[in-house]
Order: sequence, then structure tokens, then C-alpha cells
Amino acid sequence: MYVVLIGAPASGKGTQAKELAEACELAHVATGDLFREAVQRGTELGRRAKLYMDRGELVADALTIAMVIERLEEPDARPGAILDGFPRTLEQARALDEALAARQQRIARAIYLKVPTEALLRRLSGRWICLHCQATFHELYQPPASTGRCDRCGGELYQRPDDQPATARHRLEVYFEHTLPVIEYYRGRSVLVEVDGDQSIQEVREDLLRVFGKVAA
Ligand code: AMP
Repeated sequence: MYVVLIGAPASGKGTQAKELAEACELAHVATGDLFREAVQRGTELGRRAKLYMDRGELVADALTIAMVIERLEEPDARPGAILDGFPRTLEQARALDEALAARQQRIARAIYLKVPTEALLRRLSGRWICLHCQATFHELYQPPASTGRCDRCGGELYQRPDDQPATARHRLEVYFEHTLPVIEYYRGRSVLVEVDGDQSIQEVREDLLRVFGKVAA
């Protein structure tokens, strides 16, 4: 089963996708995480992706699509995956459909995590991320038990450079321009489900589990 999770930056999709993937025993494929790993490892892909990421732009479709299709070939993603942060453009959505169709597979659901713009801007400032496991925290809404340390793995927390106010605002504009059409693309294919992302993490989690026919733990 392949599921796409769509949401603006700071909509909470990363946090939710990770938990949902665990609960549903599906691979979690997060393009933002894959790019950040490549940047950290200093690979050619990382070097090229960083040029876009630092400006809050989307990485070129060709690079992104090739990376995801390669990732979906890995054994853990063959039975299904939750795609987090991909597709973000119509071209990516079409390429994903083609790649899955070639394997006699398709997107079962596209979940749109809807959050008002003012809430997104509030959330984007104050976000901290674990350097080691990528868990996310927020100074106000979800502070770590110990300042600067990850609750999950004890890793060091850092603020993403692209969460700086001007870049964060630009990422939202890019999202509205390029990713909102993707939501309509999936609506047209009758696989879109909207979930209210402007609730507590636990409430959103329960709504998402309900979409998967699972009862929240
Ligand atoms: P995220 O962690 O999902 O907010 O992604 C961080 C950054 O990685 C984005 O601002 C883009 O520069 C890049 N990125 C992640 N996913 C994609 C995608 N599907 N297409 C293009 N760029 C992406």
C-alpha cells in the first residue's frame, strides 16, 4: 500500500508520518530527510540539493524523482510506503504514478494535512530537530524534556537553517504555488482524504489512524 502525506512545511506531517509508518508497518520515505542525509554525507546529490534547500526552493524534479524511485526499489519499500514530502509538484505526482503503474501498483490514498497559514508561521519559528533521528520538537508546543537533547534518542537538537523567518515564509509560498495543485490532482483521482492538522499531535494521530482503519493505541 502506497500512501502520500501532503502538508505545508510545519504542518506536522514529518512527526505523523513516522508514527503512522510504524503503526502500519510501512516504510517511511521522507524526501526532506533523504536530502538532509545526503547533505550531511557530502555526496554529489547532497551538494546539488543544498543549493536549492538553503534558498527554500524545491530541489529540481529530475533529481528528486530519481532519488525517490531508487528508494522505492529498496526491499523495505516494495510492499508499500508512506511518502512524506513527495510529491510536491504535478510533475513528481505524474512520475510517481508512472513508476508505480510499471510495477502494477498505485497510490491508495493521498492524505492532506490541512493547517491554517497563521498557525504554520507560528510553528515554523521555534522548531528544533534531532541531528541523529530527525525527531521534531517545538520550543512552545512540544519542548524536549532536556533543553537541546532529543527525548527519543538523546541526540543533539538543532534549528534548520531553512526555518529562518524569511526562508520559512518563502517555503510556504513555494508550497502554495507548486504543491496545492498536487492536492487537486489527487482529488481528481478520488484518493484524497483531508485531515484537520490544526489539532493536538495526539488528535491528528487518531484521525490519521482512523483513515487507515486502525484504532489509536
Ligand atoms: P522538508 O523537510 O520536507 O521540509 O524538506 C526540506 C527541503 O528539501 C525542501 O524545502 C526542499 O528544498 C527539499 N525537498 C524535500 N522534498 C522535496 C520534493 N518532493 N521536491 C523538491 N524538493 C524537496
